[in-house]
Amino acid sequence: MKTIQNILVLMILVALLANCIPSKKRNADTENQEGNQQENPETQTSDSLQSQSLIRCSTMEVLEKHMARTPDLRSKMETIETLCQRVIQRNKKNKVSGTDTISIPTIVHVIYSNDVENISDEQISSQIDVLNQDFTKTNEDSSQIPEEFMGIAAETNIHFSLDSILRIPATRDSWGTDDQMKFASNGGSNVISPETHLNIWVCTIGGGILGYAQFPGDSADTDGIVVSSQFFGTKGSVTPPFNKGRTTTHEVGHWLNLRHIWGDGNCSQDDFVEDTPRSDGPNYGCPEYPIVRCESNDITMNFMDYTDDACMYMFTEGQKERMRSVFAIDGPRESFIK
Ligand SMILES: [Zn+2]
Repeated sequence: MKTIQNILVLMILVALLANCIPSKKRNADTENQEGNQQENPETQTSDSLQSQSLIRCSTMEVLEKHMARTPDLRSKMETIETLCQRVIQRNKKNKVSGTDTISIPTIVHVIYSNDVENISDEQISSQIDVLNQDFTKTNEDSSQIPEEFMGIAAETNIHFSLDSILRIPATRDSWGTDDQMKFASNGGSNVISPETHLNIWVCTIGGGILGYAQFPGDSADTDGIVVSSQFFGTKGSVTPPFNKGRTTTHEVGHWLNLRHIWGDGNCSQDDFVEDTPRSDGPNYGCPEYPIVRCESNDITMNFMDYTDDACMYMFTEGQKERMRSVFAIDGPRESFIK
C-alpha cells in the first residue's frame, strides 16, 4: 500500500513538473508543432535550417574522404600546421602583425542546368563585395559585435577581386561533394591557376549542403571552394536565412586554413587559434549573446560557426594571423604573394 501511495505521489510530481518547469522550451516546441513561430525568431531561424535539412558546411567530411584516398595528406597538413604556428609565434614575439595587403584574384565557375543556377553577374559581384567587407571588418553588422569580443575583431587586410566568370552549361541536377564539378571530363569546369587564384565553383551540391572547401596542402586539381547557387551572394536567387554571402566567407576561411570555432570536437579539441573561446559544438539560428559552453561565452557571431548569415559578422585577430600565415615564405599559399 505504501508503495502504491509512493508511486501515486511520484506520478503527480512528474505531471506537475511537466506542466510547470520547462515552460520556455515547451512553448517553443508547441509553437513549432503548430507552425506558429512568430514569437521566437531564434527558434524560427534555427528551425528553418533543420526543417529544410540544410547542412551549413561539409568541409570536414570532404577532408576525411580526401585523407582516406591520399595517404600523405595528413602529414602534409601537419607540416603546414607546424610552419604556420612557427610564423604566428615569430610574428607575436617580434610584435609584428601582417600589415601588407594580400590580394586574391578570384575565378567563379558557374555550372548550371537552369536559370536559377545560372546566376547573374550582379549576384556574383555582390558576393565579392561581401568577401571584401567581411575580411576587412567593413561589414556594417560588425557594429553588433559584443564588447567582450570587440577588441579581438580583425581586419585581415585580405582583399578579393573578380578575375573572371566561366559559365558552363550542364545536364546534372546536383553534383555532390566528390569534386565532380571541378573536372571538364565530368561535365564540370577545370581549376584555373590555383597557385595564384581562388577558384569558386557555384552549382547545386545537393543533399541540402550549402558549401564546402578544401584546406591548404590538398591536391591542386581540386583547390578552391564550392557553394550552392542559392547561397552565393546577396542578390538574385539567394535564399534566407543564408542570403548574406556568409557561406562563401566561411568556406574561404577554411580555404585559408581556419577550422570551425569548436574545433570539430569536445571542449578539449582546439581550433588552433588562441583567442577563440573553447566550444564543444556548432551554434545554429541566431543565438542571443551570451551562450555559455565549455565555461566561457561562445563566439557565435564568428564566421566559422554555423549560425545564420545575419548572425555571424567577425573573424578574430588569432584567425587573421592563422589565415595570413599560409602566405608566409614556404607557406602553402606563398605563390599568391610572389
Ligand atoms: Zn565549415
